[in-house]
Amino acid sequence: MRKQRTLRKPIEATGIGLHTGKKVEIKLEPADTNYGVVFYRADKDIYIEAKSENVVDTTLATTLGKNGMVVKTVEHLLAALYGLHIDNILITVWGDEVPIMDGSSAPWVYLLKTAGIREQNAYKKEIIIKKPVKIKEDGKFAALLPSRNFEIHCSINFDNIFIGKQKISVEINESTFTKEISKARTFGFTKDIEYLQAHNLALGGSLDNAIVVDDYGIVNEDPLRYKDEFVRHKVLDAVGDLSIVGYDIKAKYLACKSGHDLNRKLVLKLFKDKEAYEIVGNPHREKIVGSFVWSALEEEK
Ligand SMILES: [Zn+2]
Repeated sequence: MRKQRTLRKPIEATGIGLHTGKKVEIKLEPADTNYGVVFYRADKDIYIEAKSENVVDTTLATTLGKNGMVVKTVEHLLAALYGLHIDNILITVWGDEVPIMDGSSAPWVYLLKTAGIREQNAYKKEIIIKKPVKIKEDGKFAALLPSRNFEIHCSINFDNIFIGKQKISVEINESTFTKEISKARTFGFTKDIEYLQAHNLALGGSLDNAIVVDDYGIVNEDPLRYKDEFVRHKVLDAVGDLSIVGYDIKAKYLACKSGHDLNRKLVLKLFKDKEAYEIVGNPHREKIVGSFVWSALEEEK
């Protein structure tokens, strides 16, 4: 079990909002132990905690909301915070969305590392899966199974020759997240983007913040950052979506063609079944369990 962490100092950034296409300012600040990840809408003076009960929409991106106020497109920042184990942070936005940056978590990882990370004097609680929790819907699938580590096994299957079938298995820790996952960009298809923008959605979406795919290949001039960047972005999204549980995750997450909506339903289903999980806040628990097992074996002799 590790200690909680926060930033060393505040840091600010500016970027484009995916939905409005307008410039958005954001400020990231250190916070006390057990504060959690909290968004502050400075223009409306309202605080919105990054908690499962505050996920109000999952179409296109993950939206947090409270009392009718929302913050959109939080998932890539949430993924970076989880990936770097930053537990306590105040995120101020002057508007209703987090800037999309380059469509990955890499700019957030860079900013957070620039601010510096500091260990705090409290342990981070863990969530342990005690029995499998599964969701199946329209050929899509997501599940959480017991595991000592946070492992992700993810596959996608797109009816597009360029993407096709991709699968990946990765254990999520600070190093694997930063190197193997954080740089993977979001992606979309030309026809979908044209449709969205004709309906005044994703107005900020461009080749600067997404891989755009058509029937012939990728439209972007810059190459892919990983040859299976598409499935790696699905892993990135899952880290952000699952981080909403608020604990260090000890689970094996399996997903096939999953997305924000299925991930949200999976977390809600998990929390509904009290026998499916356990929250552990005692760092000495493993030792206790270990010695118990040992003494039980001794008695067997
Ligand atoms: Zn994403």
